[in-house]
Amino acid sequence: MYSIAIDGPAGAGKSTIAKTIAQRLEFIYVDTGAMYRAMALYFIRNGINEKDEKEVNAACEKIHVEIAYEDGMQQVLLNGENVTGLIRTEEVGNMASKTSAYPKVRATLLDLQRDLAKKADILMDGRDIGTHVLPNADLKIYLTASSKVRAKRRYDELIAKGEEADLDQIEQDIIIRDKQDMEREIAPLKRADDAVLVDSSDMTIEEVVSCVVKEFEKVK
Ligand code: C5P
Repeated sequence: MYSIAIDGPAGAGKSTIAKTIAQRLEFIYVDTGAMYRAMALYFIRNGINEKDEKEVNAACEKIHVEIAYEDGMQQVLLNGENVTGLIRTEEVGNMASKTSAYPKVRATLLDLQRDLAKKADILMDGRDIGTHVLPNADLKIYLTASSKVRAKRRYDELIAKGEEADLDQIEQDIIIRDKQDMEREIAPLKRADDAVLVDSSDMTIEEVVSCVVKEFEKVK
């Protein structure tokens, strides 16, 4: 069985790229950010104070996250409820970024992530997949892009969905999120020593996809 780890900062295009590659290679795609987002949704709904680690830890005991697949698309279940359509907001993303710094939050998801990798060829994306979750992955990619490019991509996505968006605000949020993810003590976002660095700032989706597929051909 093969595993590919794709890590990188918010908005680098990980999920778009990962979904396309997984389809092409017939791998199962696992979006770990969605799991942190599902936990964040629980914290928001239950008024958990994200600054209070004890409160967050106690809430973790009540959270059960599961992954299922419908027509090949990942679904995230939070205590049995399919929350896939509810977790893509900035509010949930920001809460996920803050709470994912706590060891207990990360520990709640680690076994689930590792178990998924035992069952099939998988392509998993996140922040710490190559460094912590799957340190023996067959291929590790660190996918990044400048904060300006990432902000513009997110802005375009929101506008396409008919939502309001402020480009400068989005870039500020991205910079804060990067800082939180890179500076936390446990499993911070960083390139694994053996990860291939791909800067997608000036690349099309297809260029990134074929670059990663080529890298995989080398290790297969
Ligand atoms: O990738 P996405 O934006 O959905 O992730 C939301 C947040 O979840 C990230 O900002 C990060 O703090 C956290 N995360 C993480 N480790 C992962 C995936 C996501 O800490 N493997």
